[in-house]
Amino acid sequence: DAILNHVMVEHEVSKVSFDTWLQPLKVHSFENNIVTILVDDQMKINYIQKKYTLPIKVAIAELTGLDCSLDFILPENIKTQETKAKDVEKTNLLLEKANLNPRYTFDTFVVGKNNNFAHAASLAVAESPGEVYNPLFIYGGVGLGKTHLMHSIAHFILDQDPEKKVLYVTSETFTNEVIDNIRSGNSAAMSKFRDKYRNIDVLLIDDIQFIIGKESTQEEFFHTFNDLHSAGKQVIISSDKPPKEMITLEDRLKSRFEWGLIADISSPDYETRMAILKKREELDGYTIDNSVIEYIATNVKSNIRELEGALNIVVAFGNLNKREINLELAKEALKNIISPDEKKVITPEYILDTVSEHFHVSKDDIKGSKRNAEIVLPRQIAMYLCRKMTQIKYKELGTLLGGKDHSTIIHGCKTIEDEIATNDNIRNTVDILIKKINPN
Ligand code: ADP
Ligand code: MG
Repeated sequence: DAILNHVMVEHEVSKVSFDTWLQPLKVHSFENNIVTILVDDQMKINYIQKKYTLPIKVAIAELTGLDCSLDFILPENIKTQETKAKDVEKTNLLLEKANLNPRYTFDTFVVGKNNNFAHAASLAVAESPGEVYNPLFIYGGVGLGKTHLMHSIAHFILDQDPEKKVLYVTSETFTNEVIDNIRSGNSAAMSKFRDKYRNIDVLLIDDIQFIIGKESTQEEFFHTFNDLHSAGKQVIISSDKPPKEMITLEDRLKSRFEWGLIADISSPDYETRMAILKKREELDGYTIDNSVIEYIATNVKSNIRELEGALNIVVAFGNLNKREINLELAKEALKNIISPDEKKVITPEYILDTVSEHFHVSKDDIKGSKRNAEIVLPRQIAMYLCRKMTQIKYKELGTLLGGKDHSTIIHGCKTIEDEIATNDNIRNTVDILIKKINPN
């Protein structure tokens, strides 16, 4: 009203005009410096827009100091405007969802003795986030289903209520974001980062063991955790060890991790391994002779990723050689993997597999000659790790990497050494890869 009066006085608007045009205007909303004004008739909009936009803007600026733009709309268009905003929200949600693997749901998760407690706890948290166990702390060795369970919780919550703000991140991503923000020294970026992690309903942070020893990251996570937890928001954490065994983790974080519920996942027993293989068979839609599945379940014990990997190798081997999948073929296909009494050694191939999986870059690309940064970096890191973690010679490594000459390999290794000395993100990533390749 004050604004309209100001317009009237300043622009000598007659009483009649004022009553006709200005008096009926209603402010619908004020967002992002746009004042949305309701007008009940399109003809009026055209006239008002022409004649009064500037006077109103000037009045607003004089009285409030704000430089706004005006948007005149019909009441019937409010809805479409709101739907537009909703659509934007939905896409944002979908983008967040993109952090989730669609395959990792409760439906595809096989429950066995090794994981039934963790599964039940996850389901309870998914059904009432923030209300039962907070935080939920899931721990267990590599490839035992922690990430699968976490994604399942996130999917479940979003299915129940697509409006819920659910954020899944690996602690590597979290760490690198903290590092980037600190380096940039930009307080706006830092507060954006904080908004991202505090304006959510559910935070899932995977492989928390990787923030240990990184002081500023621990500090940032501590505050994020406190803010979310005290606001009753759900936090779900995974790790390779229980909190009390995370020796170098700050005590204040350790004690918070123990506030809620701690659930472990251990190695699957034979029945569970069989059930998981059968489930894969069902999901991928093929039938395989039972003796093959039994052979794999008997011999691949340590982790579920390798169990599934073994099945994939057998199927691929059969298809490529156009041979029937039977026990004999399975033994042949798996002869390099199932070597009963041998301790697992770290091979260059295994390093390439791990690097390729970590960066979502194919092994062919790592061995190939493409020169874009998304591939060159993983390739050079693979070179560096092979040299650091195995006895392979430059020349052999060159051959393994698709016939590169040994100066290329030396250059690659040197580049990563230099990066490690100067670039925190790369050092962090290389550390994580080393722990992935050799967890002991
Ligand atoms: P972690 O995060 O503990 O290293 P993942 O969650 O990545 O392990 O699991 C490794 C693989 O094993 C994934 O492909 C996952 O789908 C599968 N997996 C793990 N546990 C189960 C389970 N109980 N039922 C079905 N698949 C499983
Ligand atoms: Mg995982």
